[in-house]
Amino acid sequence: MKFDQKAFLDGVERVLHAEYACDLKTAGKFELYNAVSRAVMEEIFTDWNNEKNSPRRRCGYFSAEFLMGRAIYSNLMNLGILDEVGAALASVGEDVKQFEEVEDAALGNGGLGRLAACYLESAASKDIALDGYGIRYRYGLFRQTFVDGYQHEEGDDWLRWGDPWSVRVDRDAVLVRFADQTVKAVPYDMPVFGYKNGVVNTLRLWQSEPVQAFDFASFNEMKGEVKATENFNATKITDVLYPNDNTMVGKILRLRQQYFMVSASLQDIVRKFKASGKSLRQLPEKWCFQLNDTHPVIAIPELLRILQTEGLSFDEAFEVCHACFNFTNHTIMAEALEKWDALALSDLLPDVYEQILACQRRLEGDGLDPNCFYIVRDNVIHMANLAIYVASHVNGVAEIHTNILKTQTFKNWYERFPEKFVNITNGITPRRWLLLNNPALARLADKKIGAGWHTELSELKKLTPYLDEMLPEFKRIRRENKEKLAAYIRAHEGVDLSADFIFDVQVKRLHEYKRQMLNALSVLYFYFGIKDGCVTDFPPTAFLFGAKAAPGYYMAKAVIKFINEIARLVNNDPDVADRMKVVFLQNYNVSYAEKIVCAADISEQISLAGMEASGTSNMKFMLNGTVTLGTMDGANVEICEEAGRENNYIFGATVEEVAAVKQYYCPREQVEGAPRLKRALETLVDGTLHDEQGMLRKLYDSMISGYEPDRYLVLYDFADYVRVKEQLLREFGTDAYYRKSLVNMANVGKFSADRSVTEYAKLIWKLK
Ligand SMILES: *Cc1c(COP(=O)(O)O)cnc(C)c1O
Repeated sequence: MKFDQKAFLDGVERVLHAEYACDLKTAGKFELYNAVSRAVMEEIFTDWNNEKNSPRRRCGYFSAEFLMGRAIYSNLMNLGILDEVGAALASVGEDVKQFEEVEDAALGNGGLGRLAACYLESAASKDIALDGYGIRYRYGLFRQTFVDGYQHEEGDDWLRWGDPWSVRVDRDAVLVRFADQTVKAVPYDMPVFGYKNGVVNTLRLWQSEPVQAFDFASFNEMKGEVKATENFNATKITDVLYPNDNTMVGKILRLRQQYFMVSASLQDIVRKFKASGKSLRQLPEKWCFQLNDTHPVIAIPELLRILQTEGLSFDEAFEVCHACFNFTNHTIMAEALEKWDALALSDLLPDVYEQILACQRRLEGDGLDPNCFYIVRDNVIHMANLAIYVASHVNGVAEIHTNILKTQTFKNWYERFPEKFVNITNGITPRRWLLLNNPALARLADKKIGAGWHTELSELKKLTPYLDEMLPEFKRIRRENKEKLAAYIRAHEGVDLSADFIFDVQVKRLHEYKRQMLNALSVLYFYFGIKDGCVTDFPPTAFLFGAKAAPGYYMAKAVIKFINEIARLVNNDPDVADRMKVVFLQNYNVSYAEKIVCAADISEQISLAGMEASGTSNMKFMLNGTVTLGTMDGANVEICEEAGRENNYIFGATVEEVAAVKQYYCPREQVEGAPRLKRALETLVDGTLHDEQGMLRKLYDSMISGYEPDRYLVLYDFADYVRVKEQLLREFGTDAYYRKSLVNMANVGKFSADRSVTEYAKLIWKLK
């Protein structure tokens, strides 16, 4: 975008006058943020409108979550005017950095929602016609604080800062009908800017509202259908994001959200397609859809329904759906694969339920073994099975994950429909996750090899001949980033950290399978080692954690309490003050992640093998030149393929070993021969730590007794974990360590979301 400082400031001033009755001299942060954003929005209309009206074939990315983070810097950077806007503001005495206070748009839980956000940015940057469709939650993922070490949740009022990057499009509103209510769906469109290429795609988020306020004609058409109470409840549908990551909760409101979003999106798309004068049988010539996990899978019976109301036969409608829909699986965990009670769904959405039954009947007509192939069985609807049956492609998100889908989770389906299954390994956008968050390291790369890597990440490989000469500068940059993070932690967590310490980082959602427990127990293991005097040369290390637990996930919350109690024990002990610090960062989110991944010395990716479908934070760290301490799980496997296993720190049971061990596993035995591990574990019950609510005792029980104790083999992998972790801590600071770090950065190319979306476009969406 071309930039004229005077014209830009005039534009800002115009918005300030019209919207806030103030000017550049009197505007506060809020007004300035909104005015700067709106002034840019005025400039991008033509490019955006061109893309919206472009005749080319598009993909709709249907996702219940988009974890966008903060928009302003990323947008300005992609428009190529970040520095210019900074200078313009400076010329009137304002600092562009003040917008760091603007709330993140956290309309997602974790990896899945962040993936959707990265894919939108990468698709625009690669000129791929991908539009996001989702929900405009009034409250995003809760804000987290700690009170006495316990997680405390508050509503996330992200609109407090306004929403200047969205445009409400009332003319595209549609009605969404449930058996017991009809609501209005109003779209808010957010532009998605490609990196310096003039492409503007769209993220369309739907908000539910009472029909009452709808235009008069539609209201008349509805007469008699609407009850007063419905209007009162209508907004509730999009009130709040469900804070569960990798778990399914069978709440009807959640089903309402899912149907609301896909019905509104499909009605909108079908209405516009019809206006082009073509037959809906030709819909696949214009559209395909990617279903991001099972949450939007109800789009399939909804499109079947719509097409039949438009005059297609079931078979014709089925063919259109088959051609349009594709499905991404994100997990093999049974507790996350969505299933709905057939009665509940048929009560809420009788016509949609009919379409699901019709799919089940069609499946039965294929003559397959009903024990292996079903969509509805024992009054339970299996959404993943519905998606696999109808979709033309099913993809896993890393090689190892797709292989598990083929050989275990969906073995029967794979054997019957092998042509449907593909792997597309996840990726991240290198713009937000290196250019924006780590400008010093980005500049160093630019200096060595030019800027080609900004849009072709595999070009970082060209750094290979320069790695040795880059070491001093690389160390200096890491150090500066650590100092900045330490200052932020001092201000926000009240803990003093020295950048001399090793920053050992584990940030991701709190889940038992991700095994924050393994890390926590190792901290106690080292701590008692130092206290006993059996460890004398422990390198000064800060163990940094960041994670939100789903509010209803008791064990996850117990792990947070455990780590906070460890932090209290360790940080208040003068004997270890120069050796260790433990900090649980509050309210981990995208903006915090940006500060963290450029300042980490160790990236902990320690899930039980077979459990983490891909992971994407592992890629963010790798891109910023951080070695992985991890298991052979998810994309870690491919990180080792790309950067060399010898340049990372790999430990633990493999998928095959896990299966074998689980046959006979007894966690007690793991502890018996290991007194230091035993001591660490028993702090959960021996009074060392505060446990006002008995949470830690329950955590102890989950590890050692009860049904399926230590389900994720924490104690089994412990010895190998500390062995490799000790080796890594010893190597830290040497040229060998920094060289490994840079080798990772130089070989990160595969993990660009640009590569991922290009593969989707070629193999699945068939977009040119
Ligand atoms: C990248 C990211 C995640 C995903 O982290 P994983 O370690 O891959 O699970 C979760 N939350 C935020 C805020 C992220 O930026």
